[in-house]
Amino acid sequence: GNADIQADVVVLGAGPGGYTAAFRAADLGKKVILIERHSSLGGVCLNVGCIPSKALLHAAKVLEEARDFRSHGLKFIEPEVDLDALREWKNGVVTRLTGGLMGLSKQRKVQVVNGFGKFIDQNNIEVIDGEGNKTVVGFSQCIIAAGSAPVKLPFLPEDPRIIDSTGALALKSIPKRMLVIGGGIIGLEMATVYHALGSKITVVEMLDGLIAGADKDIVKPLHKRLEKQYEAILTKTRVTKVEALDEGLRVTFEGAKAPEPQLYDSILVAVGRSPNGHKIDAQNAGVAVDDQGFIHVDKQQITNVPHIYAIGDVVGQPMLAHKAVHEGKVAAEVCAGLSTFFDAWVIPSVAYTDPEIAWVGKTEAEAKAEGIKYGKGAFPWAASGRSLSLGRDEGLTKMIFDEETGHVIGAGIVGPNAGDLIAEVCLAIEMGCDASDIGLTVHPHPTLSETVAMAAEAFEGTITDLF
Ligand code: FAD
Repeated sequence: GNADIQADVVVLGAGPGGYTAAFRAADLGKKVILIERHSSLGGVCLNVGCIPSKALLHAAKVLEEARDFRSHGLKFIEPEVDLDALREWKNGVVTRLTGGLMGLSKQRKVQVVNGFGKFIDQNNIEVIDGEGNKTVVGFSQCIIAAGSAPVKLPFLPEDPRIIDSTGALALKSIPKRMLVIGGGIIGLEMATVYHALGSKITVVEMLDGLIAGADKDIVKPLHKRLEKQYEAILTKTRVTKVEALDEGLRVTFEGAKAPEPQLYDSILVAVGRSPNGHKIDAQNAGVAVDDQGFIHVDKQQITNVPHIYAIGDVVGQPMLAHKAVHEGKVAAEVCAGLSTFFDAWVIPSVAYTDPEIAWVGKTEAEAKAEGIKYGKGAFPWAASGRSLSLGRDEGLTKMIFDEETGHVIGAGIVGPNAGDLIAEVCLAIEMGCDASDIGLTVHPHPTLSETVAMAAEAFEGTITDLF
């Protein structure tokens, strides 16, 4: 063909899905080219997603704990925030990881081509770099890992005070009064950071609760804590108009808790993410993209074109890094002729707020709606010695069981470190465990992990003792 360079497998996009697929395909003996628009690898997750947000959330936690422990006998002077130093530390965490990926690519002889790639036909992608240089990359097989981008609200004016998650993570300044549009995971994580740094926060959410995917009883302890910390949480309310004035952004609301028009110093828009399927000229390769921009795949990550695969945010919900990684491995292995399938039963979700919220499998609301005969076991953390010794008592571990088989089919956890605790339930579901498998497993004392065992025992009715 007319390709400048040629590979067995070309991976389009170097996020967690793309770099995982590229590395796995190379390990399996394929000649791999990885195309990435940005100079650093790692995609949204490493550069402007999971990792910088967790770094800043840790800083937020340190600040809040210093404040909280004043009432438990520790006196600190009011902590001071050096925004430049904090930003530099956060950037350092990111570059250490993205630099590591570059090293891993070299080790595996994965060739990284910098620039924006678009399909020319079923076997070629044209890549244009920042200076306008063109490279045609030919392939036998291709894995599309183009990810997603923040959804924009069409009625918002262009104004530097209106930012998305990427702008929020850039940490340019700390606004006095900030409006967060969207009470989902990303909006609340960023609100947590800016609140700790000193902003007055209002969250506005169209739906009737925060973090709509999780059960209401799991979200309630978070909602209660945030209500005390924030200026307002406006559920069942939407923003209808924003005017960019010199004195601030004037916001008009509509809905159940709509206040009079308000002035804010900054607005963070976190209303979801949309897949990048429409930006890569997929039609030139005959790859079908739906109206929303998703590319549909089968359980081997194969698109409607047999030698073209797709993985990660661009193939559908949930848009999470751990899903992208697992799909990336499957695609690479199928490329190499292995008969691998993506057959995870469950994919966990975590909001790294304070308290954290984690859920996996069936929520109670879903079990109810689907008419599943379910039973549940719950353990309130007010009875956990470890939780109380952290100065916290609002947590809850709830497990959902199938009444017929006794298998655990879901769980919701709220409390510090809920995100780490949910991993045990993921394994239990994948292994087909019932309540006694979990309850009879000796958990270390005193840990928060005991709350999982206690919730299982509560379902069995064998709970005898509270720690
Ligand atoms: P992406 O990470 O989006 O990567 C796609 C890559 O492809 C990008 O680098 C892009 O530049 C490149 N690209 C796209 N099109 C082209 C093209 N045509 N040519 C060249 N390059 C191209 N998930 C979690 O699991 N846990 C979290 O804690 C978490 N926190 C998050 C926090 C924030 C603020 C955000 C925004 C997201 C968060 N996510 C989190 C979601 C997570 O970042 C995504 O699910 C994940 O990055 C998806 O991986 P991906 O490989 O599909 O695509």
